[in-house]
Amino acid sequence: MADYIYTMEIRLTPDQLKGVSLIQDVARAAGMNLYLTGGAIRDIISGFTIRDLDFTVQGNPLKLQKDLEKAGAHVSAVEEESRTLFLSLPGNARAEISMARTERFEKTGKAPIVSPATIHEDLRRRDFTVNAMALSLNEGSRGLLLDPFNGVADIEAKLIRILHNYSFLEDPSRMIRATRFAARFHWQIEERTQARYDAAKEGKYIDHILRSSIGHEIAALAHEDDPLQVVKNLEKEGWLEVLHAHWNTSKVDSNGLSQLMKTRQHMVDLGYTPDAGPAVMYFLTSRLSEKDIADLWKLIPRKDLVESWRDIETHAKELAKRLTGKEAATPSRTWNLLSSARPEMILFLAVTAKQQAVEQKIKNFLTKWRQVQQRIPLPEMTELLITPQLPEYPKIARDVFMLLLDGKLRSRTETLKFLKPFAPPPPPPPPPPRRGRAAKAAAGAPAPAAPLKKGEVAVKGKGKAAVAAAPAAVPAPAAKPDAKGKAKPGLPAAQPKPATPKPVSSQKAAPAKPAAKPPSKPSPKLAPKPAAKKISKKKR
Ligand code: ATP
Ligand code: MG
Repeated sequence: MADYIYTMEIRLTPDQLKGVSLIQDVARAAGMNLYLTGGAIRDIISGFTIRDLDFTVQGNPLKLQKDLEKAGAHVSAVEEESRTLFLSLPGNARAEISMARTERFEKTGKAPIVSPATIHEDLRRRDFTVNAMALSLNEGSRGLLLDPFNGVADIEAKLIRILHNYSFLEDPSRMIRATRFAARFHWQIEERTQARYDAAKEGKYIDHILRSSIGHEIAALAHEDDPLQVVKNLEKEGWLEVLHAHWNTSKVDSNGLSQLMKTRQHMVDLGYTPDAGPAVMYFLTSRLSEKDIADLWKLIPRKDLVESWRDIETHAKELAKRLTGKEAATPSRTWNLLSSARPEMILFLAVTAKQQAVEQKIKNFLTKWRQVQQRIPLPEMTELLITPQLPEYPKIARDVFMLLLDGKLRSRTETLKFLKPFAPPPPPPPPPPRRGRAAKAAAGAPAPAAPLKKGEVAVKGKGKAAVAAAPAAVPAPAAKPDAKGKAKPGLPAAQPKPATPKPVSSQKAAPAKPAAKPPSKPSPKLAPKPAAKKISKKKR
């Protein structure tokens, strides 16, 4: 049997995983049964990007609001009818928690009558088999997959299949969803589902779509990996004009959009997690009138998305202004400024900057200046015992990086000259060979530590057991956003993605020499008296 918890753990981002435990703890403390559901399960199993975490609780999630906020989640919207909470979790992870429910559709075009239900009943009100699965996160059944419609088989067959014949009649927004998923995953709509879809289209069921569903479908576009492709398919099916009468692909700034997606990928590769949603919406609607855009805003349930989209230009202008001022007069200052800016703003400005100076600075920040890090002489620093074990290491590493950025250290020699004064005193030399009775006594003592291997650094005062690999500690280029998506200022922190410390031995540069090499003439101040002498003194 597949281990879905393991699959979940390896597929979710670290921030999403933290989000799962945050919500799990809060639900458990409140005594509510919690399931990971919908698209999150589909994407975990299918291997596609997991855009957001969909949770379902048996009970009313609105009661969890305060506890969730205390635990660090930000509630960005509440939908009273379906009892759904929309959350922003630390690190730009999005989630929603809805109540396990049944939906009774009594009149076409009217919202369903919602009643609390079990998870099993809840799965029956869902749109497609691949979205009608739940993974238990409860003690006792954690890891159990509920898959009453064999969604796993449809994922394997790459099929989008409705759960019953009235699905599109009950909720015509499912036609838009089917088109969106088919475009996103390149999956087929299953034959009978296609027949129902065609009939529903022909019968103009879409005229009965609920305003709230339109809002959901508009917002969903913000998080597509290839939004233009999805929008083109929606247009072809006639659904884009359902979302807004004036919306079509000629209103999209496709150039800007493709630049945005490329830059986003580049930033993701560097370890940032920018939420591109607001910028995607900006480009998808670039040529719509202000009034039309305001209409779209009114429909979207997640007000945090609306606010960020609305303010994106103003915030970008503010950042551009700072980038042309004193605050960014040197490369190191610019680095610091951009490191504390929100990754979303860097992303947006990288694509929209009008001034060449601003554009160039962002470009340097994302490319050229990162290569300067390679000029930090890590092997030599290890030789000088300037390693992360030193409390002042972050500051030294950061200062070298800043000076290199500003061209104030132009050669390796200059860099080493700068570094040398920071080298800590060498460790005490090994005791000289013992003679006579002292040697006999020492014979019973443990063997001296084995010589250090390449890339190992002796940790002061401790033996071989405490030997550490010298990490490639480079001043961090980026700040990780906090719960509100704001970057944490202040350097140096760990570099976002490539933070994994590399042992020196795995680097191309010259291997580090054993760190505990004794100096030829130990300074009387620093070197303790030889141990053998001490022993013989005691014995006397
Ligand atoms: P995405 O990857 O775009 O988030 P998703 O399938 O997770 O896709 P959501 O809008 O996040 O879509 O909804 C979460 C889940 O809620 C869906 O997987 C589905 O089970 C259910 N759902 C959403 N909208 C509908 C709908 N109109 N009818 C029935 N079930 C729905
Ligand atoms: Mg989802």
